[in-house]
Amino acid sequence: MKEAGRYQPYDYFQLMEVSLRELLVEKGVITEDAIAGAMATMRARGPERGAAMVARAWLDPAYKARMLGNGSAAAEELGFEVPGLKLIVVENTAQTHNVIVCTLCSCYPRMLLGLPPEWYKSKPYRSRVVREPREVLAEFGLKVPPKVAVRVHDSNADMRYMVLPMRPAGMDGWSEAQLAGAVTRDCLIGVAVPKVPQKPKSRKS
Ligand code: FE
Repeated sequence: MKEAGRYQPYDYFQLMEVSLRELLVEKGVITEDAIAGAMATMRARGPERGAAMVARAWLDPAYKARMLGNGSAAAEELGFEVPGLKLIVVENTAQTHNVIVCTLCSCYPRMLLGLPPEWYKSKPYRSRVVREPREVLAEFGLKVPPKVAVRVHDSNADMRYMVLPMRPAGMDGWSEAQLAGAVTRDCLIGVAVPKVPQKPKSRKS
């Protein structure tokens, strides 16, 4: 890390990561190429997997029930691995809006949504969304009516949350892929809700 013309030493967690990585490579447990490959895969991933789960849940009430009961198993049912993590899916309803955060650092369902956005990792979001969620959501352009409760879910190293948004009206007859296309990363975090485009590109049932 270079700052003001001189290199800064690693912080505690960076040092731990580098030490562990180098040790694993040295012991032949993993190769540098495998690490680079896994990082490239993660960087290339978007929210498609999470969006696919939501679209399936919107179309299949039995899948939705399984997803709300056990998010990890429901992800794996669609072929998306969530190794060693408990995924909890929280459902938005007319009474409750959900939003996720990691107050400690940046825990996020990366295996389903890709890498978290910078703001998700920022101190202002992490601290403010738990204290004044309605204000923070309003800054994202999402005004939650006073009669709707806002629930904030704090992720950690073993447990990740994903929001199941409500299916907007006006999407009748949409295919699973078209429905998934309406579910953005921010909808799955809970700082936005799906919007019906004025004119869907191609409608088929
Ligand atoms: Fe975290």
